[in-house]
Amino acid sequence: MKESGEQKTLSARWVVPIDGPPLEWGQVHIEGEKIAGVSKAGTIEVDENLGEVILLPGLVNAHTHLDLTGFPQERKNGSNFLEWIDSVIAHRMSTTPSQMQEHIQKGIDQSLKAGVCLIGDISAGGHSWDLLSQSKLGGVVYFELLGLKRDRAQMALEAFLSWIERIKPQDCLSPGVSPHAPYSVRIELLNFAIEQELPLQMHLAETLLEIELLQTRKGPFADWLIAKNVYDESGMVPSVRNVLQLLDRNSQSVLVHGTCLTDFSEKKKKLVYCPRTHDFFNSSPHPMPQMLSAGWEIALGTDGLSSNPDLNVLSEARFVRAKFPQLSSDQILRMITINGAALLCADRKNGSLMRGKYANLCYFPIDLNAPVEPVENLLLGNQSCSRVMIHGKWM
Ligand SMILES: [Zn+2]
Repeated sequence: MKESGEQKTLSARWVVPIDGPPLEWGQVHIEGEKIAGVSKAGTIEVDENLGEVILLPGLVNAHTHLDLTGFPQERKNGSNFLEWIDSVIAHRMSTTPSQMQEHIQKGIDQSLKAGVCLIGDISAGGHSWDLLSQSKLGGVVYFELLGLKRDRAQMALEAFLSWIERIKPQDCLSPGVSPHAPYSVRIELLNFAIEQELPLQMHLAETLLEIELLQTRKGPFADWLIAKNVYDESGMVPSVRNVLQLLDRNSQSVLVHGTCLTDFSEKKKKLVYCPRTHDFFNSSPHPMPQMLSAGWEIALGTDGLSSNPDLNVLSEARFVRAKFPQLSSDQILRMITINGAALLCADRKNGSLMRGKYANLCYFPIDLNAPVEPVENLLLGNQSCSRVMIHGKWM
């Protein structure tokens, strides 16, 4: 094969550019680390014929927690939200810094194996930055901010400032910030995060317990926070509506979950939906179809392994295909490609096979038992990713 930096042409039974219809026996022309174009089979000499496969842009996992990749699966039984947070805290307390780095690396490896080229990682202490910057995976590392009490909020702010000063933003990996959730972040800390004008993700309206806490300042969630000695009513945001209005001040802000949101009439939002994690905690369906009808931009994420079986974002898309038959396959595929790239503020260079974007690709064998149409074949089949290319180089 020719060396990177040169031109090469790949062909595949199906090429799915996302920006246009699938091409049967399509060709992808690559120049160095970028895509030079996509075309139907033509007269250009093909360097590598991938054969009976479906070729796509590299997938995007818009929301995960790589540092939870080592979460013991036996702890993941029962979906009581407060017990679940207890188990996440216990896991984090018992994990050494070197174990955490091992878990992050494992998460990176699993992601690449699943065809993911871009990731939105919520990172405790920003600890995934170094490993992600050494890997080929691009995306955003969102420094997780936690602290409802004044002193904890101040410590979180200082830790973030020293992190952002230490790291060197890279072409394909950007720093971001994640004020964790309304029940764990003081309003001043949330405002600080919004003012940074960085990519921002915030868990919001994930459970009815959270809604009850915000509305009444009482109930099991308040009792749980008091027992943990982390509650400060005076620091909590007034309401979900207030959080939504505050987040509107940062054009790069993205909501995560939004399970209990009911009003979609106001300004259009961007939201990451984590389908199998939602299913783990909830018996009622997610309001994602109503959000789509209201014009919201939706991408999919796996969330961390504390609430999900794996980091395979295509499995999330397949889950959505089965759960919401009213959505088209193309709509769903966009949620793990171009929409994900857009929510990570990286769609100018990622998310579709367009000339000038990075040559980030993945391909899957055709499932002979699934429909012929390539996107349906992928979403209704059960094939795994064969190979991933990042910046013009096969991994
Ligand atoms: Zn999450």
